[in-house]
Order: sequence, then C-alpha cells, then structure tokens
Amino acid sequence: MSLLSAPMNKITLRAIQGGILATGAPIGWLIIRCLSGVDLLAELQQHSGLYAYMLFGTQAVFISFSLYVGKQEQLISNLAIRDSLTGIFNLRFMVERMNEEIANAQRYQTPLSVIYLDLDHFKKVNDQYGHPGGDEVLRKVTQAISLKTRAQDVFARVGGEEFAILLPQCSYTDAKDYAERIRLTIERLAIEIPPHRSFGVTISLGVATLQEQESVNAFYQRADQNLYLAKQQGRNKAVA
Ligand code: GH3
Ligand code: MG
Ligand code: MG
Repeated sequence: MSLLSAPMNKITLRAIQGGILATGAPIGWLIIRCLSGVDLLAELQQHSGLYAYMLFGTQAVFISFSLYVGKQEQLISNLAIRDSLTGIFNLRFMVERMNEEIANAQRYQTPLSVIYLDLDHFKKVNDQYGHPGGDEVLRKVTQAISLKTRAQDVFARVGGEEFAILLPQCSYTDAKDYAERIRLTIERLAIEIPPHRSFGVTISLGVATLQEQESVNAFYQRADQNLYLAKQQGRNKAVA
C-alpha cells in the first residue's frame, strides 16, 4: 500500500490539520497589514520577531491541542469498534467490514472466506473456574488466535464465547487449512489460572467461502451451519 493511499491515523491527521490552521494567524495579520497599505517586505523585516512568534507559537499550541483531540478521537472510535473484554473487534465492526469485503470480492473477483468459532462446553469452564476464570479463558484464547491472524484479517468477538475471522483473499482450501491450524493451536494451548492446575479448552469451527452473488446473510449462515455441524460431529472440529 502506498503512503498516499494508506489511511492516516487520526492523531497524525489532526496534528497536520492543526499545523495548517496555525499558519492562519500570521498570514491573516499580514494580509490585513498589506490591505491597509503597508509594504509586505518592510512589514516582515520590521516585525520579524512578531511574525516568528505568531508562526511558531500558534503552531506549537495548535499542534499540541490537535494531538490531544486526535488521541481522544482515536480512543472513542476504538471504544465503538472494539470488544472491552478481549480488545479485538466487535460484532458491529465485523458486520461493517463483511459488507465492504463482500463488495470488494465481488467487484475484483477475489476469494473471501469466513470462519465462525465457538468454545466447546464453555458453561462447564465457568462452572469450574468461575465467571472471572471464564473471562480469562476468553482473553487467552483470543490472544492465541490473534497471533495467527494476518494483518488484513478481521478477528472479532461476535457473541459471548463466539468469534468470527474474516479472511480477505483467502480461498476455500486455504481457509479450511487455516481453521484446522487454529483448532490445533487452541487444543494445544495450556491455560494457567492460579491457583488452578494448567488446563485446556477446545473450539469448534465452521468455514465458508463466498459464492458468486451470495448475500451477507447467506454467507454468514453457511459458516454458522458448518459450526453447528462441527458441534454435532462431537466438537473440537473444523467443518468446511
Ligand atoms: P457448546 O459446546 O454447545 O458451545 O456448549 P457451551 O456450554 O459452550 O454453550 P452455551 O451456548 O450453552 O453456553 C455458553 C456459555 O458462555 C454460557 C454463558 O454463561 C457463557 N458466557 C457468555 N459470555 C460470557 C462472558 O463474557 N464471560 C464468561 N465467563 N462466560 C460467558
Ligand atoms: Mg460454546
Ligand atoms: Mg455459543
């Protein structure tokens, strides 16, 4: 992705905008002075200190304030799209991105896959380790899966112990292999919640690859049905 086409983060964008806005003070004053008949060069030479102060002083104030505003904006937009327990994306963001990626896949004829996954017998985990223990399991599973996702993948918590991974430019075979790798990763994950002994959990996964002219709902439902089949086939399975 080129620098120009890459989306700029809000903090950098606001700092640049603040810097540009800050030039308004000296330029504006210079225009007023010129309109009242003062010679531009003479004005700058006579009051160079004042103009330097206006330029750099306002830049420092505007840029600092803009950095603060940008940081707050980033924080708020993160709150709107991230899940508070795990820090990964939430359902709202997943739905938005799924619509965008389906449109892209249909326009550019590229493959698009999705994996739905659900923790197996999670009620028992809560019963055994308590709700805070269950929360910790959700965080640990999320961290382990996050390490396996590519930059372009969208990993979201879409329900209590249900997650989705949207895989742009990922074919049916690759998605199937990837789901199996994720299943194995979680199967091998040793979870430590002191003072309990290390234990493990498993997940069931349903995979779907977008078909021509398929709607968001149909795409979602196929993955969900495969997840249901994985549960029916005994859990700790990936069904594509
Ligand atoms: P299955 O293998 O069929 O998926 O069984 P399950 O027990 O995982 O499924 P079920 O949907 O019956 O139960 C899900 C449980 O997940 C029930 C609910 O208490 C728990 N849960 C949902 N959200 C959270 C959460 O945020 N934290 C914790 N600790 N538990 C949660
Ligand atoms: Mg479950
Ligand atoms: Mg569930």
